[in-house]
Amino acid sequence: MTSIQALRGTRDILPEETPLWQQVETTARDILQRAAYREIRPPMIEQTELFARGIGEATDVVGKEMYTFTDRGQRSITLRPEITAGLVRSVIEHKLIAQGGVQRLWHIGPAFRYERPQAGRQRQFHQLDVELMGSEAPRADAEVIALASTLLTRLGLKSLTLDINSVGSGDDRQRYREALIAYLSPHKADLDADSQDRLERNPLRILDSKDAKTQEIVQAAPSLLDYLGKDSQRHFEQVQQCLTDLAIPYQLNPRLVRGLDYYTHTAFEIQSTDLGAQATVCGGGRYDGLVAQLGGPDTPAIGWAIGLERLTLLLKQLQTQAAHSMDVYVVSRGEAAERAALRIAQGLRQTGLAVEMDLSGSAFGKQFKRADRSGAVACVILGDSEAEQGTAQLKWLTTGEQLELSQASLLEKADQIKAEATVQRNSA
Ligand code: ATP
Ligand code: MG
Repeated sequence: MTSIQALRGTRDILPEETPLWQQVETTARDILQRAAYREIRPPMIEQTELFARGIGEATDVVGKEMYTFTDRGQRSITLRPEITAGLVRSVIEHKLIAQGGVQRLWHIGPAFRYERPQAGRQRQFHQLDVELMGSEAPRADAEVIALASTLLTRLGLKSLTLDINSVGSGDDRQRYREALIAYLSPHKADLDADSQDRLERNPLRILDSKDAKTQEIVQAAPSLLDYLGKDSQRHFEQVQQCLTDLAIPYQLNPRLVRGLDYYTHTAFEIQSTDLGAQATVCGGGRYDGLVAQLGGPDTPAIGWAIGLERLTLLLKQLQTQAAHSMDVYVVSRGEAAERAALRIAQGLRQTGLAVEMDLSGSAFGKQFKRADRSGAVACVILGDSEAEQGTAQLKWLTTGEQLELSQASLLEKADQIKAEATVQRNSA
């Protein structure tokens, strides 16, 4: 019989990779909690209309990439292609923002887009999403950008660049849109097919076309920054000032536009030169219009999403992740010794140690080899004579020193083992 395989564009995150994912999650949780962000866990399926209204029909995400189906009750349902729209729906539905208040939220979970799978691009992928709703202050933009920067830096990533732009207010963009269409129309025949298609529907998106010929044409296009009104300009300058105050390096990129319609003012991306074609690790920006567009009160907001597949790809290249290592390895041979080993392993774990018990029953030599490979600092050895006398051998794998002690007093060594393990890890 042929075996069944995972769907194209989906992947199992195997046990050897999960420590990396956990490292990202733990670091993110720590950084976000200390900045007053709280975790929220919305559903993964929503009414299709949420994304159609919240992201916009003219975007690739809604137009081409959504997993949409009709359920048995004839409702149109979509697997979320991103997280922001669902969070906004939740905030509105549960009235999470009091008049004049702010709401800081984060969420980690899968998102789904029907795209051509390749390195760093999947059909089920994962995002860490951060949103700050209820403030239009430039300081809010800086706070949110700084969180992404802090997280990526803390994880040890280098060769990252932060690009920022302002896409202005709706009015600014409307004026720019007209200027852009006027500039591009005479070149229409030379644009790539997608861009030709977007010329009337979503011309800003042409600015980040990957097509070489289109890019050349776009080089001479009018710059969005020249179309910003006074307030938009001021906001953007203040954001830049805040980033400078925080010593976060950035570069201006007037061609940076986000794919989603609800963005206003600040747009930003963090890219890595180590990722090949799928270079963007983090994308985000301000979306002052979205909450109202989805039926909520007028609420300015800003947020970002980090693609965790791309992030873990980068971390793998660094290989800095802590190996999944044990503090103690327990070897035993013989029926009574094996029973004692089970009890001792359990007892040591209750003291807080990480303990792996060899289950093979094979020769001591083979078990010792595995003990060495486990990364443990100590090995507990139980044979027939130890079982008979109620003792155990404690061997320090760091020095080779070995001592015999009663099984009861073994537990008293827990603190010493813990200390030794900490020393080992810090020097690794
Ligand atoms: P791209 O231009 O690479 O398609 P995007 O603009 O569609 O990115 P966003 O909607 O801003 O991406 O999503 C935020 C982040 O989520 C991206 O920067 C990326 O890291 C990640 N991401 C988006 N789509 C995928 C995917 N299909 N597979 C893996 N990660 C993805
Ligand atoms: Mg995309």
